[in-house]
Amino acid sequence: MDFNLTDEQQMIAATARKVGERFGLEYWRDHDKRKAFPHEFWKATCEAGICGVALPEEYGGSGLGMTEMAVAIEELAKAGGGSTIGQLFMLNPIFGGVAIANFGTPEMKQKYLPPLIGGDLICCMALTEPDAGTNTLEMSSFARADGSSWVLNGRKHWITGALSSQIMLVVCRTKKLDAVTKKTDGISLFLINTDRQGVALGRIDKLGTNTMDSSTVFFDDVRLEPEDLVGTLDRGWAQLLEVLNTERIVTTAGLCGTVDLALKLAVDFANERRVFGKTPISAYQSIQFPLAQAYAEIGCARLMNFKAAALCDAGEPYGSESNLAKLVASQACDKATLQAMQTLGGMGYACEYHLERLWRDQRLFRFAPVSEEMILNFIAQHNLKMPRSY
Ligand SMILES: Cc1cc2nc3c(=O)[nH]c(=O)nc-3n(C[C@H](O)[C@H](O)[C@H](O)COP(=O)(O)OP(=O)(O)OC[C@H]3O[C@@H](n4cnc5c(N)ncnc54)[C@H](O)[C@@H]3O)c2cc1C
Repeated sequence: MDFNLTDEQQMIAATARKVGERFGLEYWRDHDKRKAFPHEFWKATCEAGICGVALPEEYGGSGLGMTEMAVAIEELAKAGGGSTIGQLFMLNPIFGGVAIANFGTPEMKQKYLPPLIGGDLICCMALTEPDAGTNTLEMSSFARADGSSWVLNGRKHWITGALSSQIMLVVCRTKKLDAVTKKTDGISLFLINTDRQGVALGRIDKLGTNTMDSSTVFFDDVRLEPEDLVGTLDRGWAQLLEVLNTERIVTTAGLCGTVDLALKLAVDFANERRVFGKTPISAYQSIQFPLAQAYAEIGCARLMNFKAAALCDAGEPYGSESNLAKLVASQACDKATLQAMQTLGGMGYACEYHLERLWRDQRLFRFAPVSEEMILNFIAQHNLKMPRSY
């Protein structure tokens, strides 16, 4: 059990810190206000080699693992991006990268991995539907076989980055729900261009994560060709889980960096701010204790996340660890950002001080990519061996 970062991991952290600080808080405030995708930031991150840190070397990646990715994400989040960095890293490194590197054909890898790693292409993933969120397996988007191709119809929603992406990993049924005995059967993955004929996108207005657009996606007789298939026809569910499980590690890393940043902003402000007499407000325990509590909670979540990442990199099961880390990190981050705003009094409400953005953005991760209720269900069932309650 070694809790120290290796020299290589420290180097990756330093590189990420440098990229993050080059952009800083004002860049994110401006992009949040304009609801603009952080293209320049992402390109710089890719050029620094961070996007491909866990992807194969032969396609331009570094062939390292989730531990290195978590280290980099924490630094980028802490330097100003906050929890949306976790979301940003789901796009190319996970939805595109993990899916194609693990299950794509050699042609697909050659065509897509280098531009994904280099930041010249962006990839989103369309899984959630209006009637299939937590109950993913009840998805109804259906690709009907037509000769050697398929014709896709259906609707997805809340698809992150769809308006900024050129390619989309689509999860759909190739066998209808009423034609299978196991709900996990008959699910397939396809990779298509977002501007393919029959695909229509509609922006969703929302509370935060403004730099990551969210869309409803309509599929109206979209043709899918055999070369669009990722992985095994009808057996996509198990392959999708390999993509989705790494999402939790990336999410938690973003939340850890966000808490570090929120605490720094709060402590710096509190050390300067005097309200009654000469003592800075940071001397009051009512200011100190909740911030100290957040520091303790996120420290524990971070350790658990690194354990999850290390297990993942070693090819061992890590579902339990990544769930525990994500649960605690999302709750700690929600409390920490709220308390940091409270520390600033009225200025916590001002965009100029950044905390309102950090709080708005991180709220997402209480229920996505997996909700805390579903994590508690998982713990009750798998760790405590209680019956499934739903
Ligand atoms: C900003 C944003 C970005 C997103 N990005 C993407 C994306 O890129 N791609 C994508 O495919 N999806 C995306 N999603 C969708 C996201 O993954 C879902 O919102 C999430 O999985 C929850 O599903 P739902 O919203 O349908 O909630 P529901 O499934 O309707 O759940 C509602 C509530 O009921 C609770 N609940 C449900 N079942 C149980 C149970 N058995 N026991 C206890 N409680 C339960 C849930 O925990 C939740 O609190 C995004 C969502 C948002 C808001």
